[in-house]
Amino acid sequence: MKEILLNNLIEISEESFSRLEKFCDILLEKNKQFNLTAIREKEEVFEKHFADSLKGAKFFSEGQKILEVGSGGGFPSLPLKLNNPNLDFTLLEATGKKCAFLKEVKNEFDLDKIEVVNARAEEYANTSARESFDIVTARAVASLNVLCELCLPFLKVGGTAVFYKQKSESEFKEGKRAIELLGGKIVDVFEYTLHSAPESERVIIIIKKVKNTPEKYPREYKKIIKVPL
Ligand code: SAM
Repeated sequence: MKEILLNNLIEISEESFSRLEKFCDILLEKNKQFNLTAIREKEEVFEKHFADSLKGAKFFSEGQKILEVGSGGGFPSLPLKLNNPNLDFTLLEATGKKCAFLKEVKNEFDLDKIEVVNARAEEYANTSARESFDIVTARAVASLNVLCELCLPFLKVGGTAVFYKQKSESEFKEGKRAIELLGGKIVDVFEYTLHSAPESERVIIIIKKVKNTPEKYPREYKKIIKVPL
């Protein structure tokens, strides 16, 4: 498994590696009971979930309040956290069963500085969580314009969104208007591929929050989907 990470230019300590191995076992075991991931093989988990999540490690720093929207089985948050337990994460997930899994992993590794919140982003954004995070991240949750409406309201001005996406020029173009309306500005696009799938181009889009998000956003989920910004 270490080779899979190395093939993807991911170097981590022995300690981090053994935590990832244990997390992989827990994930695949729980996945037999309910659907956390479509991936069933350990090798694939190490590449498509762990290496992929860790590709963005340089964008997350200690001392910053990080929110993940739509955690699912905990990607990218848990590989990042298990690699650096000092990162401060809030994991936001709409499905109760997935939250129970995330809490189980938290307890299994006795992690602190990690909170699991069972709520929908568009509702949680209208609590004291609004404009209170330094970083918001998400992977495989929604198209860029929808994702921005769900995520950018959580960022403080000066904060950063770190979005893991498949490369798509049309989605990128469509997302630009939403980013601007919500107070953001694209500052970097990090392109990469995974070792075993060089044809599948991936990006990590970095957006800076330059202005407060207008209070009317996020709208109700139905509207966000029906009339995306
Ligand atoms: N981020 C994980 C990954 O990359 O494997 C999970 C991706 S999964 C396809 C999308 C997750 O986002 C689901 O677990 C879903 O319940 C959650 N989700 C979707 N919309 C959401 C919302 N508005 N608020 C909170 N969670 C949401």
